[in-house]
Amino acid sequence: MKIDLTGKTALVTGSTRGIGRAIADTLATCGARVAVVGRDKAKADAVAAEIANARGFGCDVSAPADVLRLVENVEKEFGSLDILVNNAGITKDNLMLRIKDDDWDAVIDSNLRSAFLAIRASSRGMMKRRWGRIINISSVVGLTGNKGQTNYAASKAGLIGLTKSVAKELASRNILCNAIAPGFIETDMTAAMPEEARTAMMAQIPLARLGAPADIAWTTAFLCSEYASYITGQVLVVDGGLVM
Ligand code: NDP
Repeated sequence: MKIDLTGKTALVTGSTRGIGRAIADTLATCGARVAVVGRDKAKADAVAAEIANARGFGCDVSAPADVLRLVENVEKEFGSLDILVNNAGITKDNLMLRIKDDDWDAVIDSNLRSAFLAIRASSRGMMKRRWGRIINISSVVGLTGNKGQTNYAASKAGLIGLTKSVAKELASRNILCNAIAPGFIETDMTAAMPEEARTAMMAQIPLARLGAPADIAWTTAFLCSEYASYITGQVLVVDGGLVM
């Protein structure tokens, strides 16, 4: 099986490091042109310079005007936008009773509203071209909930509802929309976890290892490929068996 995305343009939010960067690398390996995105344009440019056929874009996905401008600029620079990966995400963990309004809003705006805005803006072009792939990076905690992550879990569960609704609305135009729910993946986000929490988490994973960013990246590439052309509105859990 060879995944061939030649001629497609992919926009991957939050692709300066971690899972997003691996997705950008992998989609480029499969032949796609890739828009690398982070808050700092210079950083995005530096990452893009290391990937074949990529360009860097600066965008704070929590700012609606930035997201709309990003989609416009990518379409202008590359001539089309065929694959949208909503990956950018943040955590602001605390027990529910202690979550400040601002921390609730920051997480919902960065993780959920951003995805809605990017989908709304990019789907017009996909509808005209009668081809599109939208992948939302959710999380297993969007399925299970998690103590100390009310805001984050709500944003990730929201992405699942968004995914299924968009899948239903856009299916007739050959636009597929799916979510990936990663488990515990080794990135800066999880490096911030206390050692005891990591050890406790590892004990729950049947495959007894943390996931690598590439595990999520290849799942994304598969969902973008022709091999997945009958899959839409699904949540693919990639977690070493943690949630089943
Ligand atoms: P990292 O913290 O390692 O990377 C986050 C990326 O998002 C960076 O490229 C960062 O870019 C970008 N980003 C953050 N905020 C913004 C913003 N406001 N605007 C634009 N870009 C932004 O995260 P991971 O790679 O670990 O996670 C990627 C996604 O996967 C997230 O949605 C996360 O919730 C999800 N996930 C991760 C899991 C894990 O175990 N790691 C498990 C389940 C889900 P920059 O700093 O350059 O702006």
